[in-house]
Amino acid sequence: MNITNNTIATIHFTVCSSDGTQIDSSRNSEPMVFLQGSHFLIQGLEDELEGKTVGDKFVIDIAPNLAYGERHEELVQAVPKSMFEDMEVEPGMTFRATTDDGEQSVMIIDVTDDDVIVDGNHPLSGLTLNFDVEVLEVREATEEEIAHGHPHTEGGCEHTTH
Ligand SMILES: [Zn+2]
Repeated sequence: MNITNNTIATIHFTVCSSDGTQIDSSRNSEPMVFLQGSHFLIQGLEDELEGKTVGDKFVIDIAPNLAYGERHEELVQAVPKSMFEDMEVEPGMTFRATTDDGEQSVMIIDVTDDDVIVDGNHPLSGLTLNFDVEVLEVREATEEEIAHGHPHTEGGCEHTTH
């Protein structure tokens, strides 16, 4: 069976930036299970997996526009320290902020005497990502999985939030 919309696929993957630095890998832990077509994966990877089957292996470079997007420098902003009140702030911290585009995850990248510099870009934006993928399993999704938009492990739906 081939990976296509409304199939559940299990893959191992390793992702590196274009300079070869490993960003993430499933190979030291559990493989990743996802519903194809649900946009759980970045677009470039979902596109490449379409039609693949068990045992297929591939390596692909995915440009930012099909991964986590281009960087937008206007999303880097200085926020007065006073807005953080008594919060301890340090570079690397992330938090949710309400912006013109709705709720967004932002990261503190610098702290000066008066300001906190925050970055609303995805940490992987602007990067071409190299994926090394192996397809381990493909099966049809159940009606419930399609309705929920995600795979269920053995024993059914283990979550309670929908
Ligand atoms: Zn569910």
